[in-house]
Amino acid sequence: MLDKSFQPHGKHLIAGEWVATDATFRSAPASGEPHDFSVGTVALVDQACKAAEEAFLSYGYSSRAERAAFLDAIADEIEARAEAITQVGSSETGLPPGRLEGERGRTIGQLRLFAQHIRNGEYLDRRHDVALPDRKPAPRPDIRMMQRPIGPVAVFGASNFPLAFSTAGGDTAAALAAGCPVVVKGHSAHPWTGEIVAEAISAAVARCGMHKGVFSLVQGGRRDVGHALVQHPLIKAVGFTGSLAGGRALFDLCAARPDPIPFFGELGSVNPMFLLPSAIAARGAEIAKGWAASLTMGAGQFCTNPGIAVIMQDQAGAFAEAVQQALVPVGAQVMLTDGIAEAYKKGCARIAGGPGVGKVLVSESGQRSASPNLFTVSGTDWLADAELAEEVFGPLGLIVTAQDAEQMLAIARNIEGQLTCTLHLDAGDADLGRRLLPVLERKAGRLLANGYPTGVEVCDAMVHGGPYPASTNFGATSVGTLSIRRFLRPVCYQNIPEALLPVDLA
Ligand code: NAP
Repeated sequence: MLDKSFQPHGKHLIAGEWVATDATFRSAPASGEPHDFSVGTVALVDQACKAAEEAFLSYGYSSRAERAAFLDAIADEIEARAEAITQVGSSETGLPPGRLEGERGRTIGQLRLFAQHIRNGEYLDRRHDVALPDRKPAPRPDIRMMQRPIGPVAVFGASNFPLAFSTAGGDTAAALAAGCPVVVKGHSAHPWTGEIVAEAISAAVARCGMHKGVFSLVQGGRRDVGHALVQHPLIKAVGFTGSLAGGRALFDLCAARPDPIPFFGELGSVNPMFLLPSAIAARGAEIAKGWAASLTMGAGQFCTNPGIAVIMQDQAGAFAEAVQQALVPVGAQVMLTDGIAEAYKKGCARIAGGPGVGKVLVSESGQRSASPNLFTVSGTDWLADAELAEEVFGPLGLIVTAQDAEQMLAIARNIEGQLTCTLHLDAGDADLGRRLLPVLERKAGRLLANGYPTGVEVCDAMVHGGPYPASTNFGATSVGTLSIRRFLRPVCYQNIPEALLPVDLA
């Protein structure tokens, strides 16, 4: 039950001021009362972007210690609102309180990790080629390089991570750490959670004496808000987490600008698992249980959900039966929005109607809930129908049966870009594993062995990205410290007098 003392004000945060427009949109929480939120406008986007540019003039030159203290302060302010964030977040999204608590820990951990990362300073990648005045035939000037923040960044969070990939999520943390002011386009599935987190950031801005334009939140309610944000001339990059359709629409707008800007879209993925024969012979039932648990975690609403398992034909029957047995008790789970629940039902119907698709488990889903579904298809039919390779956001599994090792390799070669690819293998599978790995390496940002891709560690070596359509920029990651590179650009300083060099380079 939501504590009655928690009430939203339903406004936008524009450079430290809470403002409302005339129109409102109504939230649609999974439980509890709906509330009215002010609709974003193109004029508000313009105000927020201008304030961000003004803030950049000081924030872009703030010291690493100042920014680290600011990130730590945001973490503290979020923690101070823990109860409200958990209750409101759970009511809006239908995610259980325990999940919200875990995600809050991750969000805070991410902010603190970035604070530590910039204190250490290695991310600046400082280089110095000292002057060689006596070099023949031509002298060499003094040449230094380091990474500098790019300017105001726009952030779009996803519905399935209302904290860790949203208002103060990884994109915001990375951009602020780099020295870039942020304008967030609020997600319409969790506007109140976004409002509380924006209050936390605003309190940290005040505590640390930062320029107020360093952070703004413009609630959505209309698509032209997002369109105006990515096209605003003062925005220099976009961090986006969400659907392929939404991400592609915004990516195209960025590319069509007179001055195209990078759009770092983290999109959907089916995260295929390749189940090799010796591993399945030794522990097929255990792998089946593990897959069922990963597939249904959080109603399958993870971008790293392993939606496809590729297995040898002669092992598929027993494996499918074991997965089905593990899926049946899971039952219905609440989904994030009515729209996502509807899309899941359509996705199940699309896969069920595919040529040669066999039904292993078909369950009815409710208006805002999803039950697990399991299908099977031959490798030949899968290879002939590209739609069977598309993400269905929710607890749907598709078992693809391979005639032999050659067909398994053909399937691997035919998958699109992925966030992750997984191999389940034992010593006896080494030869096939050795042939698959170079193929999968070109397909995914993260390769796993004998595990499940749900659960993304936030650390230095993490890569959460991959070739399109997993992301719009395969050179980047949206999780881990390397994600700061998205909001930096190298600047070279040739013969610039010491007194004029940035503090970090002098
Ligand atoms: P979504 O519907 O694409 O929404 C994301 C954001 O984009 C929202 O702010 C939304 O605005 C906006 N948006 C969507 N379409 C738009 C358009 N055509 N024009 C302008 N703005 C648009 O995604 P979601 O449902 O929140 O998230 C689920 C998806 O995200 C799944 O496919 C999942 O796999 C993916 N995901 C990926 C990752 C990753 O790291 N790769 C992580 C989590 C989720 P509104 O608020 O107005 O809807």
